[in-house]
Amino acid sequence: RQLLVKASTLPSQSRPGVLLTIHDQTHLKQLEAMRREFIANVSHELKTPLAAVKGYAETLQLGAIDDTEMAPHFVNQILAQADRLERLIADMMHLARAQDRSQPAEPTDVPVLPVIQECCETYQPVAAQKNIELTLQPFDESIAILAEREALLTVANNLVGNALRYTPEGGHVTVSCQTEDELVSIAVADDGLGIPLEDQERVFERFYRVEKARDQQYGGTGLGLAIVKNIVQSFGGTMRLKSMPGKGSTFEAVLPASQTAAPQLSKTSIG
Ligand code: ADP
Repeated sequence: RQLLVKASTLPSQSRPGVLLTIHDQTHLKQLEAMRREFIANVSHELKTPLAAVKGYAETLQLGAIDDTEMAPHFVNQILAQADRLERLIADMMHLARAQDRSQPAEPTDVPVLPVIQECCETYQPVAAQKNIELTLQPFDESIAILAEREALLTVANNLVGNALRYTPEGGHVTVSCQTEDELVSIAVADDGLGIPLEDQERVFERFYRVEKARDQQYGGTGLGLAIVKNIVQSFGGTMRLKSMPGKGSTFEAVLPASQTAAPQLSKTSIG
């Protein structure tokens, strides 16, 4: 533990003496170390694509621009690295917002089904491209949580996006939702790469990536799960992970159910 001990002399009225004050600085020091590590990570992550952009642009400037075979390749690399920078910045903004306690989230009743449907529709083309079967298991449309719609969509998008990214061609990704007492569990299961046991705790840390995922081909930022965990915690929920290398992973966001949401009538039962 880091203790800061301050000694000050007391004014000598009736009895002279020394006042010792002890402050436990452990938490402060930890926060400071985390902040420093985060800034080091951010600058490293931003510098890599930026150096590539500069390198390709300089090569073009030095004459490659007239090389009709190579020039388009360099331009494509510049665009790809600029895309990566854009994703990194967007993810960092998301994370900053999720962590910003001066702007507390304003939870409302959020029916889960439409959000999960929107997420699956967004990712259907990505799944089709990799020949992955993306399935939404039907669930009760009255299930609602106390959260923010956009934040829940971010959680679902990150989990489904990861499942598709870390599942090889021809795999399966299934999204489901069920209630457990006062809780709602939203699960995204894949039969992809899986995560070794020793990495499972750490994947929720900022910029932490399992060895294979560091490969450029996966194109992630290492921030997605940190964003997910922050959002889920800000609504009083927790994340669960079950995974086996080579078999697949199931990420589960467990969130408090909305107490007030009345079961909604489905369209067919109204008519
Ligand atoms: P990234 O942008 O790298 O995907 P995340 O924070 O979303 O960052 O995930 C952290 C790491 O966790 C990933 O780099 C990857 O190694 C691992 N991971 C996340 N989701 C899955 C998954 N569904 N299957 C296998 N590994 C995963």
